[in-house]
Amino acid sequence: MSTIENFNFEGKRAIVRVDFNVPLNKQFEVTDDTRISAALPTINKILDDGGSAIVMSHLGRPDGEVNQDYSLRHIKGHFAKLLGKEVIFAEDCVGTIAKTKAESLKAGQVLLLENLRFHLEEEGKPKLPKDVSEETKKAAKVEMKIKQKNFAKELASFADVYVNDAFGTAHRAHASTAVIADFFDNDNKMFGYLIESELGSLEKVLFNPKRPFTAIMGGAKVSSKITIIENLLDKVDNLILGGGMIFTFIKAHGGNIGNSLCEPDFLELALNIEKKAAEKGVNLYFGKDVTVADAFKNEANRKITANNEIPDGWLGLDIGPETTKTFKKVIENSQTILWNGPVGVFEMENFAAGTKSVGEAVVAATKKGAFSLIGGGDSVAAVNQFGFAENVSYISTAGGALLEYLEGKILPGIKAIISD
Ligand code: AMP
Repeated sequence: MSTIENFNFEGKRAIVRVDFNVPLNKQFEVTDDTRISAALPTINKILDDGGSAIVMSHLGRPDGEVNQDYSLRHIKGHFAKLLGKEVIFAEDCVGTIAKTKAESLKAGQVLLLENLRFHLEEEGKPKLPKDVSEETKKAAKVEMKIKQKNFAKELASFADVYVNDAFGTAHRAHASTAVIADFFDNDNKMFGYLIESELGSLEKVLFNPKRPFTAIMGGAKVSSKITIIENLLDKVDNLILGGGMIFTFIKAHGGNIGNSLCEPDFLELALNIEKKAAEKGVNLYFGKDVTVADAFKNEANRKITANNEIPDGWLGLDIGPETTKTFKKVIENSQTILWNGPVGVFEMENFAAGTKSVGEAVVAATKKGAFSLIGGGDSVAAVNQFGFAENVSYISTAGGALLEYLEGKILPGIKAIISD
């Protein structure tokens, strides 16, 4: 496996998988270009070396159909502006148009291919009517796998080198994220700078943490975070739980949680997590008090109660002041911090204080030398909302891929490059 830094792209055509799945407004203008900016170092390295770049991505879920609402044509201008360079566009990602444009690329030029997901082969999932037999389904799947291979092979044929810089889709075994890697030898496939830095930061946290290592897990439901929590129990010194998920734990102990979020099917599992944490010597914190409301809205009446004495008709929407103090102390004494998920309904101003304080503590710890990684959609949104983004060590915007990585899964897009 090569590294992008050491590779010389001079005279080479590189096909680069990026994540340009950016939000667009009704006029099809890019409203948040974070993901485009994130791909620029890799593309610039290729061009600065004297190579050319064929850039490919998906946008939205067109489900294998050509749909101009999801055309990467809408991104082309914004991309060119950020890059400071003309971008050539191919109206299809494969076929004669793409091939001709790819083959005539000169050193320093950039070609953007049309949305990969205009072809079912990208995701490799056949589209079938609901009522077909299992046998037909099986046959269609086998056929699609072959088509997907050919599609990936065609994309690969455009270039000398494959660079994957789309961590956000690394958990998908798609043509452009994984299958394509089979058509390049070891020296001619590599990660881009973005994936390298994501992996580097995640490794720092998960495999080589300075201690104490504290994970803060928040969000709505324990069910969506359970595998991550279990995986983290082998790694962390402190596990802070916040948000809606704690009420399943409180309920499991027979506490009164009023109308707070609860997943009755997970009560036993919650107790099991506590038991495992104790066995592994992990300090588990979910605090003692909670800010409760008499309705799920910002203007609702509020008060502080013990988190196991929530009156009927009330619901817990944020951590309380005592809990905040405890969490802050643990966080500020940590050397490594992983934060996923808000500890309250931070979107409502009156229930944002806990999440804001947690963010402040993460910033304070980072200032003292801790390494802090924030990941997962909502915690990133919270960190941005409170303006802490500049003062934490690393923010991962990867969403699903990050969560699967934290669960301990091997991501197909990563495996495809390192497995030889
Ligand atoms: P997740 O996507 O699982 O990380 O959940 C994030 C969401 O959890 C955010 O939209 C929060 O508003 C929500 N959340 C946090 N704390 C609570 C709570 N106590 N009750 C209900 N929802 C919550």
